[in-house]
Amino acid sequence: MLWKGGRQSSNVDDRRGVSGGQVAVGGGILGVIALVLNLLLGGGVDTSQLQVPGVQNSRELSPEEKAADDERGQFVKTVLGYTEDVWNEVYQKTGKDYPEPTLVLFRDAVQSGCGNASAASGPFYCPADQQLYIDLSFYNDLENKFGAAGDFAMAYVIAHEVGHHIQTLNGTSEKMARLRGQVSQEEYNQYSVRLELQADFLAGVWAHYMKGKKILEEGDIEEALNAANAIGDDRLTQGRVSPESFTHGTSAQRMYWFKKGFETGDINQGDTFSARELN
Ligand SMILES: [Zn+2]
Repeated sequence: MLWKGGRQSSNVDDRRGVSGGQVAVGGGILGVIALVLNLLLGGGVDTSQLQVPGVQNSRELSPEEKAADDERGQFVKTVLGYTEDVWNEVYQKTGKDYPEPTLVLFRDAVQSGCGNASAASGPFYCPADQQLYIDLSFYNDLENKFGAAGDFAMAYVIAHEVGHHIQTLNGTSEKMARLRGQVSQEEYNQYSVRLELQADFLAGVWAHYMKGKKILEEGDIEEALNAANAIGDDRLTQGRVSPESFTHGTSAQRMYWFKKGFETGDINQGDTFSARELN
């Protein structure tokens, strides 16, 4: 994926320095306050040990890790910028505005409008505050745990979460929320699978536009398909769990809907809710 030099989204709330425990002076807002205090008090305050209250200290990143983290941060900001370009274009075609979501970058743990989350929960979208949450360590997980390497594998994950934002804007997520409690868990799971497959489809539509803008490179679509394949429910549970409890769809279904979005580039082809066969 050609991303270096691309426009980086400004809709980013970078909390990596906050959730990381010790705050570097001048880094986060707390660092700035300490610096001001220090100046006011004639330099008598030792800011080197400043801690964020109530946040566990995690270990410091090595210079190499820090460099990799910075690059990944720039990458996801650029991908988010690309999703803004595409969805603004798609919305404008129908005469509507696209309200852009905010991306929260965090490390280890984060508070969201949908509750507290840790890095272990993976990237997610919270409809309540319309924000995407990503701990960049998921990049390593994709490659090492799921065997889905490549920048476009991560781009697909981001585009999938943005797909949930689209579903929130058009009311689909709210319909889902109302269903909870009205239908059995098993039935709800079936709707959940359709919601997730639609997010995969929307990620595919986005990839279609990326191809049109000549941003894709050889092998990118394979990387996305490989990621969709790797994080299907049947793969993740390795047959230990019955299909009724699937909430995201099988690997084949995820690849099918991503591909459909990619090949058609037409948002009207993504009605996973009326589709008889999910494939
Ligand atoms: Zn999802």
